[in-house]
Amino acid sequence: MLEALKPQPEDQILMLMDQFRADTRADKIDLGVGVYRNSQGVTPVMGAVKSAERQLWESQTTKGYTSLIGDPAFVDAMRDLVIGDAVDPARLAGAASVGGTGAIRLGLDLARLAAPQATVHIPDPSWPNHRAIVAAIGMPMKTFRYFDADENALDMPGMIADLGAVAAGDVVILHGCCHNPTGSDPTPAQWADIVAALSGTGAVVLVDLAYLGLGDGIEADAAATRMLLAGLPEVIVAVSCSKNFGLYRDRAGVVLVSGQSAAQAALVRANLATLNRLSYSFPADHGARLVEMILADAALRAEWTEELSEMRNRINALRRDLAEALRDAAGSDRFAHFGSQRGMFSRLGATPDEVRRLREDHAIYMVGDGRMNIAGLAKEDIPRLARAIAEVCGQ
Ligand code: PMP
Repeated sequence: MLEALKPQPEDQILMLMDQFRADTRADKIDLGVGVYRNSQGVTPVMGAVKSAERQLWESQTTKGYTSLIGDPAFVDAMRDLVIGDAVDPARLAGAASVGGTGAIRLGLDLARLAAPQATVHIPDPSWPNHRAIVAAIGMPMKTFRYFDADENALDMPGMIADLGAVAAGDVVILHGCCHNPTGSDPTPAQWADIVAALSGTGAVVLVDLAYLGLGDGIEADAAATRMLLAGLPEVIVAVSCSKNFGLYRDRAGVVLVSGQSAAQAALVRANLATLNRLSYSFPADHGARLVEMILADAALRAEWTEELSEMRNRINALRRDLAEALRDAAGSDRFAHFGSQRGMFSRLGATPDEVRRLREDHAIYMVGDGRMNIAGLAKEDIPRLARAIAEVCGQ
């Protein structure tokens, strides 16, 4: 039977990681996989996480099962962090998930249970796994205009036109902040226009929030999600704790869903519990419990907030430094947008051939579409990176 399996395409980013590892050039630069690295080039365990782990080790008396939606205290803590008082909590249901990917999958599975024929609308471009997950679960899919690559800016007229034409009951995926791969997010005024365009359609928004706190701060980064929740009757929010808590491999995430009433929220909760039951019964607890402990304890929360600010400030300083170095190296403002974009990623706007030349001639590794993980860059590498980009892409 197994001979009937089809070969699967290799993940581009993981393939690039392998290529990078095999490269023996000492000055190689990895801008591939989306992980934060500190000034020592390390993706660290955050101090608040270490402290919470120590406390948990001392105090945990059982590893008995939690509930099918995970630890309710974690779900509530994430609700307070992400949503605040934007929606009456009685209208909200949530479930712990296996990272942000699991939250997206859970949110889409929920939508499919409610409306199997719904089309899922994905921004162009987007995180490639959106498309892959939607294809895997067999929902129809369309893209909507998001980014104008020639202008290096959002295509607001295109986006508003496309979103305004979405059918009732369809699902629209939006990145809550720090858009991956472009680093370009709508302004608050543009978000208001997006909410207005969607409000008459009857579409359900799925907000992918994988970088809360890594753009302009927790409150600023949550603002769009809250605006969508306040302005639309039904919203699904898929939250990842991988980057902002540095819990990548512990797989902590949550899906939060606002329904139109408390009764609907109860129905959603029961369906999320069933979906978890059908996949793995109980979502992983360790990372989620650490997050809950950090958010509930004033000292741990202050430590985490400080560490998150340091990460954010480092990313934004790297952005400014890279933009400046490129202005000097290329003698133009063509790359100025790197300084104003937010989150881990920006796109170079390079052709596949230029991306290949950067890799082969300069040992600079980025994804084929020119996506660069700026959060993985070492400050010392910026001058060389800028010179190489100016040489390869500067004409
Ligand atoms: N959404 C986006 C846009 C992402 O970039 C990522 C991580 N690369 C995720 C979701 C999922 O993150 P994880 O499953 O690692 O929590």
